Amino acid sequence: MNKYKQLRSWLAHLAETNRLVATHENVSLRHQLAAIAKKLDGKSATLFPNPDGHHIPVVSGFMSSRSWIAEAMGIDEAKLLDEFRKAADNPIACKLVENAPCQEVRHQDFDMRTLLPVPTHSEHDSGPYITAGLVIARNPKTGIQNVSINRIQVNSKDHMAVLILPRHLHAFQQAAEELNQPLPVAVVIGVDPLTLLASQAIAPIDFDELEIAGALHGEALNVVRCISNEVRVPADAEIVIEGHIPPKLRELEGPFGEYPKYYSSQEKRQVIVVDMVTHRKSPIFHTIVPAELEHLLLGSIPREATILSYLRRSFPGVLDVHLSLGGVGRYHLYVQIKKTHEGIPKNVIAGAFSSHYDVKHVVVVDEDVDVHDPSQVEWAIATRFQAKRDLVMIEDAQGSVLDPSTTVSLPVDQNGVIPARYQGMSSKLGFDATKPLVYEGHVFTKIKIPGEDEVDLDVVLDRQFPISSILKLN
Ligand code: MN
Repeated sequence: MNKYKQLRSWLAHLAETNRLVATHENVSLRHQLAAIAKKLDGKSATLFPNPDGHHIPVVSGFMSSRSWIAEAMGIDEAKLLDEFRKAADNPIACKLVENAPCQEVRHQDFDMRTLLPVPTHSEHDSGPYITAGLVIARNPKTGIQNVSINRIQVNSKDHMAVLILPRHLHAFQQAAEELNQPLPVAVVIGVDPLTLLASQAIAPIDFDELEIAGALHGEALNVVRCISNEVRVPADAEIVIEGHIPPKLRELEGPFGEYPKYYSSQEKRQVIVVDMVTHRKSPIFHTIVPAELEHLLLGSIPREATILSYLRRSFPGVLDVHLSLGGVGRYHLYVQIKKTHEGIPKNVIAGAFSSHYDVKHVVVVDEDVDVHDPSQVEWAIATRFQAKRDLVMIEDAQGSVLDPSTTVSLPVDQNGVIPARYQGMSSKLGFDATKPLVYEGHVFTKIKIPGEDEVDLDVVLDRQFPISSILKLN
């Protein structure tokens, strides 16, 4: 059973271990808050009391390291992917409760522009954005819930425009729209670290990510029914926005700085109409600074887990995978294999392209290369890869619609817009950076100094040695 069932118990643990710092009061919600959180990202989580005088504090960056995420799961970092996959494959049904902390305070008369301390993050963002809201909806056909994090622009008193990429929430919204019905939703802000991580699982449709959260916790997650609709939300959450997405309603959304570290353009998007807001007595608002570690890792670790298990089904020699941070945790996949046949790396490359459409460049390396160390992967490309022999290229495949390089040479319609059917069309490259199985002498033997792994500095160093006696400086 996991120790951190609420956001605040995890934050308390970070504070006790000097990994949560607080700023002065009155930090500006416009840019200043995000700038400070970005500066501390990966070093410590940041708590902002009374930002812009708002009585609700904001927190950011509490999941900004792989080791912290493993710690929240209560496991070794090396087991991160296998343990996440195990949970995703063995969901635990949620437990419905009646009284929930997240419904202690209820607002029916509100203005979304002032009710919550919503920050404006990047320079050219259109305005305040909710970036850490778990959007929960029920499949209109099956009633099974889905959880995803979608960027949400606060537009007016009760309207919020939302980006819904063509995945599960999109399928629900389309199904409701075809019936000319609204899709009831909840936007949940401030959940425990494992529920936050589970929300990003690459699971099939009709796999409730809250049940994966339960599996990560080792016990059923407590959920409560929303007051104005049938959606079930984590009972221990900080803040819940209840609402619905009306059919055919669209409002302008964007521009917004996204995970590739570029801006998405302004377009007409679906709208969440807010019906009511509930929260704890003294709630904490969570914001994720776009394109920084918390954003990238929450996306990349569940993906790595899925890709590793997908590749292992066909290639038992696959040992580890990593979606590098330089590749924005999505586009660059490094695969470590124990090579048995010269042709296997190219099969692995082909498999990797089909593991997730966002994967754009794949590098396959041997077991003596650590895929979590980008400079080791670069070393393998520099010394084991020959383009003529080891490069695989596929043109015009499906890639990420948020990769700006995909937009350059695509056809446009009479309004200068890329038709949806071409969006994200992308070339893919695979690099076989493995060494040959058979070679002369030590041509491909990585150099090693006998004993280098065993050096114990506490034993070999003499910290009191009088260095000046050798330098003999006057
Ligand atoms: Mn889903």
